[in-house]
Amino acid sequence: MDSYVRIFDTTLRDGEQMPGVNLNTEEKVQIARQLDKLGVDVIEAGFPIASQGDFEAVCAVSRSVERAGVCALARMTQKDIDRAWEAIRHARKPRLHVLGAASDLHLTYKLHITREQALEMTQKWVAYAASLCPDVEFSPEDATRSDREYLLRVFNTAIDAGATTINIPDTVGYTAPSEFESLVRYIAQNIHNREKVTISVHCHDDLGLAVANSLSGVMGGARQVECTVNGFGERTGNAALEEIVMAVKMRGECFGGVRTGIDTTAIARASALTAQLCGVKLQPNKAIVGENAFRHQSGIHQHAMLQNPLTYQILRPEDVGFRESALVLGKLSGKHAFAERLRELGYIVSEEKLAEYFTQFKALADKKKEVTDSDLEAIVRQKSTMPEVFELEYFHVISGNTLLSTATVRLRRDDQVLEEAACGDGPVAATFLAIERATGMALKLRRYSIHALTGGEDSLGEAVVRMEGARGLVMGSGVSTDVVEASARAYLSAINRYLYTFAQEDQA
Ligand SMILES: [Zn+2]
Repeated sequence: MDSYVRIFDTTLRDGEQMPGVNLNTEEKVQIARQLDKLGVDVIEAGFPIASQGDFEAVCAVSRSVERAGVCALARMTQKDIDRAWEAIRHARKPRLHVLGAASDLHLTYKLHITREQALEMTQKWVAYAASLCPDVEFSPEDATRSDREYLLRVFNTAIDAGATTINIPDTVGYTAPSEFESLVRYIAQNIHNREKVTISVHCHDDLGLAVANSLSGVMGGARQVECTVNGFGERTGNAALEEIVMAVKMRGECFGGVRTGIDTTAIARASALTAQLCGVKLQPNKAIVGENAFRHQSGIHQHAMLQNPLTYQILRPEDVGFRESALVLGKLSGKHAFAERLRELGYIVSEEKLAEYFTQFKALADKKKEVTDSDLEAIVRQKSTMPEVFELEYFHVISGNTLLSTATVRLRRDDQVLEEAACGDGPVAATFLAIERATGMALKLRRYSIHALTGGEDSLGEAVVRMEGARGLVMGSGVSTDVVEASARAYLSAINRYLYTFAQEDQA
C-alpha cells in the first residue's frame, strides 16, 4: 500500500463549529493561505448552504488557494450539492463532500428514513455529485456506532455511484484504537474497487482519543486523516493536525512506515494564526504547540539538557517552526523594509492595507524600542476585518486604588459622535460600561482575558472577550501596549462582530 497519508484539514468547517467562533471571509482566506503553505492536501473550506457568508467564504478560499484541493460539504439534497459545487467549481482541485448517515440512531431519529431508503439516497446523491465533480468524498455520520455489514453496504453503494474517497467518521468520539483499527481494516478488505478508493478517518476527541484513533485508522489502512489545527472543533474538538503530523514524522515506523507532505516548520505559525483569529488561547501544556512544549523546569532536566538536549527533548523548537523572535525593525525602518518583512512572514497585503499597517507600526515603534516579528504579526492580525459599525475615537480613564474608576469614551458611528461616561469597579469595568451606554448594545460579558503577546515590559497586550447576546456568542480581541485600550478595542470588536455576523445570517 502507498505510504503517503493525505492530510485533510477541516479547521474552516468542523473547527469553526467551535462554540463562540465565527470567522469572516478574510480571516478564513488568511488561514487557508497558511494551510496551503503548510502543505495540507485538502482544505475543507465550509458548508456553503449554511449561510451567504459561508458560501462567499468558500468561493474566496477556492480562488486564493494555490496548491491544495478545496472541499465543500453538502447533505444529500440537490440544493446542498448545487450550492457547494457553485462555491468550489473554480478551485484548482475541487472536491465535493457528501454527508450521509449509517447508524440506526441517526437514520431513525435525525433523518427519519429506513436503511433501504438511506442506500437509495446515497446512490442517487453521490452519483449526482460525481456528475458535477470528478473528486467526490462520501461520509456516513456516526459510522463507528453503525452495524458493520450495513456500513460496508453503504460504502459500496457510494463507491459504485462514483465516490473516490470514503470517510469513516467517529462523529461522537466513541471508538477506541483497537476497535477502530479493526473496523477500518474490515472496510479496507471488503470495499469495491479497493485500488482506486482512498479510505479516510475523521475522529472527535470526546474521550481524548482522537489522535490515537486516527493513527490506528492509518494502521488499519486509512490513507487520509481529517483533522484541525490545534484540534479545534465542536465540543472537545477534532484530531489535532500538528499531533498527527509530528507523530507520523517522529514515529512513522510505528504506524506502518507512513509519511505526510506537511512542512512541519510552518506548524507554529498556522497554530498561532488560527488561535488568534478564533480568539482561543491554547492550554499551556498542549502537545507540540503549547507554550510549555519546549520548557524545562526541573533542575535535573536542565542540567542534563545542557550536556545533551536529547536527554529530555525529542523535538527541537525549530522542527515545528518556533524560533526566537528576532529584532527586525526599529523606528527608523522604512516602508520598504516593513513590506519585505511582512512578505517573508507570509502576509500578502494590498497597498492600501500596507499603508494602514505601516502607520500602526510607526506608532508602535515610538512606544517600543524593538519591534519583533511577533509584534508585526500582532499588528496584521489585530486589524479587525469586520466592517466597523462603531469606531473608537478616544477614551480617558481616571483610576487608583483609593477611588472609584471613571471612564469617558467617544465613539463614532458613520457621522454620528457618541460620547458617554461611567463609573466602575476598576478602569476596565468603567470603560466597558461607558461603551455599553454609548453603543446601546447590552451584550453579556462571558469571558475576559488579557495576556502579553510579546516579551519585555513594553510588550503588546492582547485582550480577548467573549460576549453573548440574544442571538448567540461572539468573540472580540484588541491589541495595544495599554491594557485598558486593548480591552476597549476587544469589547468594541465583539460588538461589531455581533452586528456583522447576525446581519449576514439575516441575508441568507
Ligand atoms: Zn466532525
